[in-house]
Amino acid sequence: MDFLSFIHINQTASAPALDAKLVAEEIDKIFPSCKIDIRPPFKYEEKMIEQAKIADIKQPFENQPYQEQDGKVRMTIPLYDGFVMQKMFAEMIPTAEISLAHIHIIFTTILTCTFSEDDWRYHGRAVICGTPSIVSTTGIVEALAKPREFYLAQLLGGMAEDNDTLKKKFAGRFIDYHDEDKITAASINYALQAIFFFITGGEPFCNNKDCRLFNAHWQEELIYTIEKRTLCSHHRNLANKLPKGQPRAGRF
Ligand SMILES: [Zn+2]
Repeated sequence: MDFLSFIHINQTASAPALDAKLVAEEIDKIFPSCKIDIRPPFKYEEKMIEQAKIADIKQPFENQPYQEQDGKVRMTIPLYDGFVMQKMFAEMIPTAEISLAHIHIIFTTILTCTFSEDDWRYHGRAVICGTPSIVSTTGIVEALAKPREFYLAQLLGGMAEDNDTLKKKFAGRFIDYHDEDKITAASINYALQAIFFFITGGEPFCNNKDCRLFNAHWQEELIYTIEKRTLCSHHRNLANKLPKGQPRAGRF
């Protein structure tokens, strides 16, 4: 089986606000030799996923307190260890599809995070690369920083300006939950990162601010790459160099 012949797009049952068909079409343009399919919702046991939940963001996964005993910890948006989730999801993929011929990308609203040993805490992530790759639409909204002025206004505004007023003021400069167009476009970028993770042997990011693989830390940087809608020449060449597969039997 050829390397990267199939790309499977899945969504978890809690369907994120994104257009999977558009994601598939855009990937198809860049990797025309791959067969891309959109699969029915990826189902998992709620109980299973709860085992990946983080109660204390300042402790690595193996030191997480038992959540039943720790009633004090309440996070506004629950966080889940992305790599623990990935391991659970991988076990649900048919063995025949666990090979470098298949790339699995799961879109979810679950907020994935990874533990960083640099500052010894968990950070929200928009994408977890691997098998399967997980793209978190909540991560797109929450894990990337909004404009500095947004936070400043939030601090200075106090009670005077509620969140909605602030969001209106900064419209277009950040991504919100209901913003399906931007979330879809951002999801395409992260899906591409997940694919390039395999092509490059683990280096999904680009230093070029114009490139869709740029590792944006600010939503404004991400919006900029969304508007550019382009890969840098280096990454375009890598995509074009992929061996051409058999003509495809069908489209998504
Ligand atoms: Zn690039």
